Amino acid sequence: MKHLFAALAVAFSLFAVPAYAAPAQGDVIIRHVTIVDVEAARTVAGQAVVLRGADIVAVGADAAIAKDWRARRTVEARGRYLIPGLWDMHVHFGGGPELIDENKALLPLYVANGITTIRDCSGDLADQVLAWRSAIAKGSLFGPRLLTSGAKIEGIAPVWKGTIEVGSEADVDAALARLQQRDKVDFVKITDNTLKPELFLYALRRARALGIRTSGHIPMALTVDQAVDAGISSIEHLDYAYNAGAKDEAAIAADFAAGRIDRAEANRRLDAGFDRDTAMAAYRRFVAKGVSVTPTLNGSRILAYLDQGDHSKDEGLAYIGPKLRKTYDWRIERAAKADAAGIAARHKQIEDIATILPMLVEAGVPIMAGTDAGFLNSFNYPGFGLHDEIELFVQKGLTPAQALASATRAGPAWFGWLDRYGAIRPGMAADLVLLTRNPLTDIAATRAIDAVVLRGEVQDRAALDRMLADTRAKVAAWNAEAARAQ
Ligand SMILES: [Zn+2]
Repeated sequence: MKHLFAALAVAFSLFAVPAYAAPAQGDVIIRHVTIVDVEAARTVAGQAVVLRGADIVAVGADAAIAKDWRARRTVEARGRYLIPGLWDMHVHFGGGPELIDENKALLPLYVANGITTIRDCSGDLADQVLAWRSAIAKGSLFGPRLLTSGAKIEGIAPVWKGTIEVGSEADVDAALARLQQRDKVDFVKITDNTLKPELFLYALRRARALGIRTSGHIPMALTVDQAVDAGISSIEHLDYAYNAGAKDEAAIAADFAAGRIDRAEANRRLDAGFDRDTAMAAYRRFVAKGVSVTPTLNGSRILAYLDQGDHSKDEGLAYIGPKLRKTYDWRIERAAKADAAGIAARHKQIEDIATILPMLVEAGVPIMAGTDAGFLNSFNYPGFGLHDEIELFVQKGLTPAQALASATRAGPAWFGWLDRYGAIRPGMAADLVLLTRNPLTDIAATRAIDAVVLRGEVQDRAALDRMLADTRAKVAAWNAEAARAQ
């Protein structure tokens, strides 16, 4: 009898445990939501997503999740679409130490626009940006996850400020050691203003040997293929990728290296020599070597059409401080000096360059959405510009799903972090954007933001509006101060 009772008790408890188990506890549950599976280019309706801390801990049919989980906060998301947080893979901070506050006021603009991660591609405030990166990670500064190259590597006495100048292989070794060990940068940016072409290639090879990803501008004296072979991880700006399509690129590079032609002539010949088969072969080599491309197409388009655009009424200007605004002048003045032929050439060039976007996609090259927003690049508004960029991608031939992937998955893929970002499933980061419309049918829906989840914290529409209003108020006060000082 005693045994039977014990056996019954065991049997009872075996059945009772699952039946009466307390629901698991999360912090936030997002209910009745339609999940956008960016990778599969499809939506899944009627889902619930549970967040705990900075993680997604459960995803599934709403009724099942609601039965098994409790959360302190419920976000009712019927009729809404949930996408992974957006990544802007090319931003800048800079303009000099007196612009630190104006640059800092840009950080909330990214979050208010659904951008949960930014990749800073170097400006002239590298130490400041490194400090922001750790403050954001610790939670003492509000902003998107910040990844940075630190100071970029350049030649001796370049036009760019805040660079690490290298004139020898030993200099390159020292620069990489500093960036990797002291600054612990997320990748390295190498540009081509005064850097010797052979040192550019040396830096790419050394960085690869050290396990550091590289991004950069390829010197005119080299072919794109040489940079790809040496291990460049991402090519910034579509024009460099375009150059790889010129049939006689090697001869043009050699002529430029020998001083037989100037940059303008080299560009003219590269454009004239563009050939689809040559380009496709080059882009397939990008794929084989694991090279991604960040087009920054919208930023280039704005600059190419400065002659036509009246930007004085841009809503974005309300978010740009007077000193940052002043950094626009350099490019505006340069554009104003161009004659009709120069302007026409600039228009033709940007339209020609844009034609390679669908070719890159066809070849399978990962396209990373990045804006080039920050300073210098006029009327390219931090945060807002990413939506312009991916909308332009669709206009140029990408599907909405491909455009969305460029802004949610290509960035994490480049860093090797697709196990943590770019999808909505348990174990992924709780970096999410809730939209009122379906971005797979209209990419402009990425602007229709109802809430942003950043590291598990829900920022509802009212909170996002407050972020925007805060930056506008700061800018208005700086503008008033600047007007008084005049
Ligand atoms: Zn840039």
